[in-house]
Amino acid sequence: MKVHHLDCCTMHPLGGRLVSGRGSIFDRCKLVSHVVLLESSEGLVLVDTGIGTADVADPERRLGKAFLTAAKPELDPGRTALRQLERLGFRASDVRHVVLTHLDLDHAGGLADFPHAKVHVFRAEHEAATSRVTRQEAQRYRPIQWAHGVDWVLHDVAGGERFFGFERVRAIVEPEILLLPAHGHSRGHAVVAIAHEDGWLVHAGDAYFHHDEVADPPSCPAGLALFQRLVAHDDAARLANQTRLRELKREAGGRVRVFSAHDEEELAAFTGG
Ligand SMILES: [Zn+2]
Repeated sequence: MKVHHLDCCTMHPLGGRLVSGRGSIFDRCKLVSHVVLLESSEGLVLVDTGIGTADVADPERRLGKAFLTAAKPELDPGRTALRQLERLGFRASDVRHVVLTHLDLDHAGGLADFPHAKVHVFRAEHEAATSRVTRQEAQRYRPIQWAHGVDWVLHDVAGGERFFGFERVRAIVEPEILLLPAHGHSRGHAVVAIAHEDGWLVHAGDAYFHHDEVADPPSCPAGLALFQRLVAHDDAARLANQTRLRELKREAGGRVRVFSAHDEEELAAFTGG
């Protein structure tokens, strides 16, 4: 299965060293939006979507002022998943499945660019994003991003297989793409495992933000640790996921490559950027 690693929205939040671990505390940081495009046996599959062409065209309405001010995203239509896959010679309608780690606005913005795709997400995440019962959920989810009508496939966390330390795993495309329950950052957050060559690629979404969080021993720049704690739906569960990911790396050794949605160095290790 051919795999493409894309950055579908570069963001530049304040916080400098407190977020990135580098430079001065007054620098702007760089966070990527790591999206994976898979040429699977069932057609193209996207894991996460970043922000989409409609977000770039109408950022205040689609993304909201608070996010634009805090995250300072580069609003470049050429960076959207749609434009990047077109440059690879594909069309929007070639994307058969979109698998989302969660529905935060920087992950779900591209949905409107792929109206023909089935969109896989855990049911608890879909409920959180559509009911938005807490103030935090009202801020993080933008219903306008799925107002065009989405062909949802909602997965329950029940039954299912094991994948290393993760239980009750759902298969999206058998046996190549798996949805692993990892709530914590958000109410129904998932980690996505992708069979590749003789091992696995594991897209951890926002289960962690900095590569050192899954290193042994783990560490994280203070500002980034605080940010993650503040936006977590369930902080203890979030930290337990990080422990599970560290164990996965230890147990699987070189057969598994784990990466998060926003870490620049992890993306560069795939793209050579
Ligand atoms: Zn995110």
